[in-house]
Amino acid sequence: MSRQVVLVARPEGSPRETDFELRDADDREPDDGEVAVRNVLVSVDPYMRSRMTGVRTYVPPYEIGDVVDGAAVGRVVASRHERFAEGDWVHSRLGWRERGVAAGDELRKLDPELAPPSTALGVLGMPGLTAWIGLVDVGRVKDGETLWVSGAAGAVGSVAAQLAKLKGLRVIGSTGSPEKVEWLQSLGIEAFDYNRTPAKEALADGIDVYFDNVGGTQLESALFALRPFGRVIACGAISRYNDEGPVPGPRNLGLIVTKRLRVEGFIVLDHTDRFRAFIEEVGPWVRDGKIVCRETIVEGFDNLPRAFAGLFSGDNIGKMLVRVGPDD
Ligand code: NDP
Repeated sequence: MSRQVVLVARPEGSPRETDFELRDADDREPDDGEVAVRNVLVSVDPYMRSRMTGVRTYVPPYEIGDVVDGAAVGRVVASRHERFAEGDWVHSRLGWRERGVAAGDELRKLDPELAPPSTALGVLGMPGLTAWIGLVDVGRVKDGETLWVSGAAGAVGSVAAQLAKLKGLRVIGSTGSPEKVEWLQSLGIEAFDYNRTPAKEALADGIDVYFDNVGGTQLESALFALRPFGRVIACGAISRYNDEGPVPGPRNLGLIVTKRLRVEGFIVLDHTDRFRAFIEEVGPWVRDGKIVCRETIVEGFDNLPRAFAGLFSGDNIGKMLVRVGPDD
């Protein structure tokens, strides 16, 4: 019998392990058109925190008692769908489960010869597409511009920073520890630790574009640092996700008018039609090692809630994943 992780309480503030319970699953065999999958790597993502609040945003909330669904990669263990055979690697939305059954049409077959399956959850998956859409379609960044990326050592941020560098921008990345700063610098990215260096100091020369993963006071700093006609790529606001209620916004929103800034939010789900174009551009850079894809892999199904909570205390460098089963 396999196990699954169920939401049993809506987190108040930072998510805690007691908000979740490991339960036995009611395993079943696939029906016609369905595929049974054994998960190998499961993704934990910041957007899941918003789904746990019970408020509908751009995706429905998790209800109490729901298995935490989300992205995962695994191996087919039984198939009644013509496109899948036992042993295939697939990307699914089965989420925090050891095993599950999905409609074959909801699965994407992965070729492990082309790229390690884990990359479908990171650099060549939703986080990578988010970084690319943000820079290319939303920010419309240009060679020679100066870009600040917050959360730059994370899944989205580290891809955004490296992509922007490849596109000829001057890139400044911020993150929360000296170890992460060192890693970013090893990639050729100027980096600062926001716990030690005030953004005002690090951005004293001014910036043209801000890729916002953090929100809050870092967004406020960006509005100060942006040059006239600058842009904010509003991707996320992780510093606010554990707030209990509305909090005051940046105190300097008036600068949007006086500096003629463009602030544009986006949700990657609206841009899935761009996936092929994204892979065509970014795939070769990943293959040739021009974009480094770092992962933090937490071992063990039982550790899914802990890994998720770790996103909010900066436990990850690159994409945070949980290994819940062997590769073969
Ligand atoms: P990350 O891999 O970046 O993991 C989270 C990181 O956020 C942590 O490692 C930590 O890094 C940082 N962080 C956590 N709490 C705070 C805080 N209070 N202040 C500053 N930094 C904090 O996650 P993702 O790359 O998956 O997501 C990054 C952002 O992109 C999130 O805001 C997410 O919601 C958003 N996103 C938006 C999408 C869209 O469609 N718009 C799609 C996917 C993600 P550090 O040590 O540097 O503080």
